Amino acid sequence: MNTGYLKNLKTPIVIAGLGKSGNSAISLLLAAGFQKEQLILFDEKSPQAKVSDPEKLLQLKPQTAVVSPGIPLSARWLQQLKTDGCHITSEISLAASLITTEKIIGVTGSVGKSTVTSLLGAAVVSFDPHAFVGGNLGIPFSDYAVKKLQGEMPASWIILELSSYQLENCKNLQLEHSIITFLSANHLERYRSLEEYYSTKFIITDITKGVCIMNKTSADCENYANLSRSKVSFVNSNYFSKKEFLNDLTLIGSHNKDNFSLAAEMAVLCRWPVASFAAMTAYKGLSHRLEHVGTVRGVTYVNDSKATAMDSVLVATKGCLEGLTSENKLFLLLGGKDKNLPWEQLAVLASNEIITPVFFGQCGPLAKEKTELSGECFEHLGSAIQYCQRRAKGGDVVLLSPGGTSLDEFKNFEERGDFFKTLVLSEQKN
Ligand code: ADP
Repeated sequence: MNTGYLKNLKTPIVIAGLGKSGNSAISLLLAAGFQKEQLILFDEKSPQAKVSDPEKLLQLKPQTAVVSPGIPLSARWLQQLKTDGCHITSEISLAASLITTEKIIGVTGSVGKSTVTSLLGAAVVSFDPHAFVGGNLGIPFSDYAVKKLQGEMPASWIILELSSYQLENCKNLQLEHSIITFLSANHLERYRSLEEYYSTKFIITDITKGVCIMNKTSADCENYANLSRSKVSFVNSNYFSKKEFLNDLTLIGSHNKDNFSLAAEMAVLCRWPVASFAAMTAYKGLSHRLEHVGTVRGVTYVNDSKATAMDSVLVATKGCLEGLTSENKLFLLLGGKDKNLPWEQLAVLASNEIITPVFFGQCGPLAKEKTELSGECFEHLGSAIQYCQRRAKGGDVVLLSPGGTSLDEFKNFEERGDFFKTLVLSEQKN
């Protein structure tokens, strides 16, 4: 194992951002032999922080900064550290420095990352007992590196979900192959333009040795493919080599057929055993992503709390419309907190009379105004759900696919989705 990069990091080392990945980086640095006193725990909010004032941090003159993806690299104090000669790195880069024989598949995109990562994960764990699946989703990459340092058998395959923020700072990472799942306007609060956001996504092609598989259904994957620096292959559920497995798919919705096709094509490219296809078709999906919560008094409730991009809302709406007739209604819960989202993209829904939009939360009125859709507007998600419960009849569907983030009322999208599920299922008990 090559521990040279880690051993040569100059101290003191600041861990900037003490979330899940920051803490994983701390464990890795300690496992690599650094002393607690050599680490500066910095976070402007976390009570775990030893330093929370950027000015004070600069006075401590850190020589290495392990920066969390949550902190913009443009932060003034970070720019100052860089000017002062501090080495800027990340939790992903620390872990990547220990990779030897493992082959890594990286997955990025605006939507579909977690689903495709999990599909690939289901495939690799079916034949590699040491496989690692994580990154932006689930377990941080450095947790794997800690185990490797402690002498555990290395994985043959590693599947990493990579956000654009992680791609901005991942110098040591080398991928065998990669996937861009779907591109759409998202996270525009941190980027100045769509081009800048997509350029960050395409960094994945700089670190891909083999092929980057992209989604042929995503117009922007094709429109921006010239940004790619690796070989590119386009697939979707109509264009891929393992279509015979599509009928066995457990996941709902045509977008998930595309997600499956991306993962299945990767399995072909990597020559994974045939059992990996069965493992992927059996995969049931993640909570809060087009999750069928239950049917109460004939009304179907679907939780897609994770959807915070307009494309996700459109995809979920399309998926839920499948099988509904003109007699039915689809109550679509829209709102939450805005992040400069292109709500106007939902205006196309106006032409479908089955859809009954119901707005809620901090950006409910803004969403209503920008989409130009008519519908009731509620201050809180709870009252919006209750309104749907009162109005929906047997055969109708109530879909929470909000578009906005959860941060106006909840800690995260999971908490928002759980709230929806609890309210819906409590009606079932009554
Ligand atoms: P991510 O991890 O990138 O946020 P997920 O796999 O968790 O994405 O999916 C989140 C939501 O994005 C889904 O509920 C669905 O609405 C939408 N989505 C997923 N895959 C696709 C796709 N291939 N095309 C369009 N929308 C998708």
